Amino acid sequence: MATATRQPLPQRLLLGPGPANVHPDIMAALQQPVLGHLDPVFQELLVETAGQLRGLFGTANELTLAVTGTGFSGMESCLANLIEPGDTMLVGVHGFFGMRMAEFAQRFGAQVVEVTAPWGEPLSAADVAAALEQNPDVKLVGVVHGETSTGVRQPIAEIAAAAHAHGALVLMDAVTTLGGLPVQVDEWGVDAAYSASQKCVGTISGLAPLTFSPRARARLAERQAALPTWYHDMEALHQYWSAQGFYHHTCSSTLVYGLKAALDLMDAEGIENRFARHQQCGDALKAGLEAMGLSLVAATGHRLPMLTTVSIPDGAADLDVRQALLAEHGIEIAGGLGPLMGQIWRVGLMGYVAQPANVTTFLDAFAGILTAQGCSVDGNAGRAAAEAALAG
Ligand SMILES: *Cc1c(COP(=O)(O)O)cnc(C)c1O
Repeated sequence: MATATRQPLPQRLLLGPGPANVHPDIMAALQQPVLGHLDPVFQELLVETAGQLRGLFGTANELTLAVTGTGFSGMESCLANLIEPGDTMLVGVHGFFGMRMAEFAQRFGAQVVEVTAPWGEPLSAADVAAALEQNPDVKLVGVVHGETSTGVRQPIAEIAAAAHAHGALVLMDAVTTLGGLPVQVDEWGVDAAYSASQKCVGTISGLAPLTFSPRARARLAERQAALPTWYHDMEALHQYWSAQGFYHHTCSSTLVYGLKAALDLMDAEGIENRFARHQQCGDALKAGLEAMGLSLVAATGHRLPMLTTVSIPDGAADLDVRQALLAEHGIEIAGGLGPLMGQIWRVGLMGYVAQPANVTTFLDAFAGILTAQGCSVDGNAGRAAAEAALAG
């Protein structure tokens, strides 16, 4: 048989908002033999994976699985199932992903009420409660746990309590946070949550873990309007993931091996240790950037560990700096989204790449490039501050 030849691809250090570099054990799992989507061994793997996802989401929800697709496929699944045309949905908008959630909701026929906060700040639970008072027909409240466009971590429990007091369900975007920060679906009172496989979960993209509470499933059972989706019919997907042997779609066994290996690695590391590793690396990166003389974007006390946002200093050109980082050091970081485009950089430390050595490697490379491009930053102070934070 013929063999395929391949061009070698560059090795990158992926310090953007996902995908991140994948742990070698997960890469090895991805090379296991392909199994058919109805193979009993594969179906057992689905059931086990769902059990591990429940642990990670902090939930006892029976309907917990991963849909095929990326984070937005999770967002789309949740909204398609939970919204009926004409429903009112309240969406917290203080960044690009909240904005997207509002747009998706409108596509499914929702009347969207937005509660906003400045980009870089969290939403206020009091603002959400006030909006619920003014809009008593809100049926669903959507919030983003980690706003990857701004680097803000959003407290959820108080907003969820306000939503429930008004008879609304709560939908949470945990795309950036799952696997890097505690996510407590049951304790916080979240009714549906979705994530993605390629951020802090740590495997390749292609699956979106999600979970629906019994209350959310009751909403599905009460639907008057037909579901606007066949592929993302949550109850049908649940039957498939419950190993009932129905053909729903040809779920990629390979993607599930990767997800399962990522969840196994979390168990081996210990989830608390994993959260602490993200926190320590994120803190060190922030300390280093500030000591260098740069300004952070997200409000103090509300910063995500796995995604740091920094203002582009005067005299630096967004694209030139990112291109030099990639060309000279093989390091990828991201620019800003929406109104923050050209204003900020976003540096991720997600999953496998959340390691002390990557923090100092990045800071050294970054300071070198900024200096070469005529910006005055103090690289030595940056490294010293990061090392102190990592030692502490
Ligand atoms: C990345 C991201 C998404 C979208 O995920 P994709 O995998 O790119 O589809 C949605 N919400 C948040 C908060 C994200 O960070």
